[in-house]
Amino acid sequence: MSVIEWTDVSDAPGEQPVVQLEEVTKTYPGGVTAVRGVSLTVGYGEMAAIVGPSGSGKSTMLHLIGTLDRPSSGRVRIDGHDVAKLSDRQLSALRATRIGFVFQQFHLAPGQNALDNVADGLLYTGAGLAERRRRAETALQRVGLAARLSHRPNELSGGEKQRVAIARAVVGEPPLLLADEPTGNLDSASGAGVMRLLDELHQAGTTILVITHDRQIAESLPRQVSMLDGQVIS
Ligand code: ADP
Repeated sequence: MSVIEWTDVSDAPGEQPVVQLEEVTKTYPGGVTAVRGVSLTVGYGEMAAIVGPSGSGKSTMLHLIGTLDRPSSGRVRIDGHDVAKLSDRQLSALRATRIGFVFQQFHLAPGQNALDNVADGLLYTGAGLAERRRRAETALQRVGLAARLSHRPNELSGGEKQRVAIARAVVGEPPLLLADEPTGNLDSASGAGVMRLLDELHQAGTTILVITHDRQIAESLPRQVSMLDGQVIS
């Protein structure tokens, strides 16, 4: 994948919010309006939860902010780029360079060890394998897994798998990390460890949005965006 040229806006962090939603509505084919009139700004360096019960529109928000889906109306800007003005190819490049994703189900390649799972997070950069592995090793050290480089996912605990997934998400140093129910598949001790790791990454400057139905997790974060019936209620 080639990296697109950014000619329309500055890439300098801090000049624009990392996430800016203006009056965003998403109606699915069939007529369900999952997000209605949401405006939300997330600045560089923030850490926030998008929290709400099942069906409140959190996944739809994740898809919109992650540029995996386009809004039916309203404007979505990520790192200053208006999603509506980008082609699908440019959108893929924006996603690859600007957003790290962490999912409840980890989504690691089962046949690859931790090092290569993380190195794959740099495929879009065009860097060679040795360089990708070198950076992957640094990222795995950062998440406390220096001793697990050659372990495959089935040789790792749930908490370790999620650490690998986080290393993969941040290895390219994207300005935004989106974590979708990151502790949903973990026991409480591993879940707490993953939340501590996210907090450390936040302290080091990464902007993090955690999507969760868990009020307790949300309340442990500096900011909560509460959703109900597709709207932000606080
Ligand atoms: P949450 O993640 O908070 O559970 P969702 O964003 O998944 O909420 O869903 C919000 C609403 O949108 C629900 O009523 C859901 O049934 C509906 N919905 C979600 N995805 C789709 C889809 N692809 N097509 C049609 N309706 C959908």
